[in-house]
Amino acid sequence: MRGTVIHAPGEVRIEDCDDPKIVQSTDAIIRTVATCVCGSDLWAYRGIEAVPEPHPMGHEYVGIIEEVGRDVTALKPGQFVVGSFATSDNTCPNCRNGFQSSCVHREFMSTCQAEYIRIPNAQGTLVATPDRPADEFVPSLLATSDVMGTGWYAAVAAEVRPGGTAVVVGDGAVGLCGVIAAKELGAKRIIAMSRHASRQKLALDFGATDIVTERGDDGIARIKDLTEGIGADSVLECVGTPEAMQQALRCARPGGNVGFVGVPHDVQIPGEELFFSHVGLRGGPAPVRRFLPDLIDRVLTGRINPGRVFDLTLPLEQVAEGYKAMDERRAIKSLLLP
Ligand SMILES: [Zn+2]
Repeated sequence: MRGTVIHAPGEVRIEDCDDPKIVQSTDAIIRTVATCVCGSDLWAYRGIEAVPEPHPMGHEYVGIIEEVGRDVTALKPGQFVVGSFATSDNTCPNCRNGFQSSCVHREFMSTCQAEYIRIPNAQGTLVATPDRPADEFVPSLLATSDVMGTGWYAAVAAEVRPGGTAVVVGDGAVGLCGVIAAKELGAKRIIAMSRHASRQKLALDFGATDIVTERGDDGIARIKDLTEGIGADSVLECVGTPEAMQQALRCARPGGNVGFVGVPHDVQIPGEELFFSHVGLRGGPAPVRRFLPDLIDRVLTGRINPGRVFDLTLPLEQVAEGYKAMDERRAIKSLLLP
């Protein structure tokens, strides 16, 4: 099959790879219907994360089941499925508590920009749609696999409530999906921090009520202006840099909450500042599996359309251009079709 391999920063190639096989009795093999490039894939592409040796890429996917291991009894070949970037048995104590991305059997997906994918813990990980969805739903279903699920978790972790105020730090695909989540969870005021015209427009379409273009102290001052001088009830941190985290912590009001879902790179949390801020903090890899059935339903009923974050669609063979376009910020997110 054809699959994506990163050889060094900036060097992503599509090449012939071995077809995946059932390894464990709990595995499934899916034929990829759509996959995509994640903002977090750019950490390696940009050399911020080391690439010690060539390795496959990709952790977002929707597909059709080809084959299941003998312990996968609730899924069958031919079903259209969505799964998370973190696999889970969906039966262990952490899964039952709704933190499937801390499943005791968790494996992170990392080979999904390919024609076929092996899914460990298939029965707990994959959620089948009632029927084969129409093509128009595929981008949004793919978005639930990671960015929409992660944006949703950011809003839940930041305790977005009906009537509340939410600030979204980061205008990448996750931040934009965080705007959708804040709206769906009933926030009255949703402030998107963005400097890019096309992303501002999408944020407004998704339900943002205000756009703040300033960053740092000026950005914090603008948020305070908009929130009675005290800061927001909920802040969604969707970047993962020290600047974004500091921005998020300082935009929340005393008693407010920050949900942080950007994978932290060199982020330090100052203990004394956090102590005196009275801000609650929860983050981590999103337990997307908790939200998948609900998000799939919202997509298939036309309530949400997070697939709009894909502003570039390419054949899988052109995956390198998908990375390049995102790296150069010509694209928010690249969708890949095998
Ligand atoms: Zn589990």
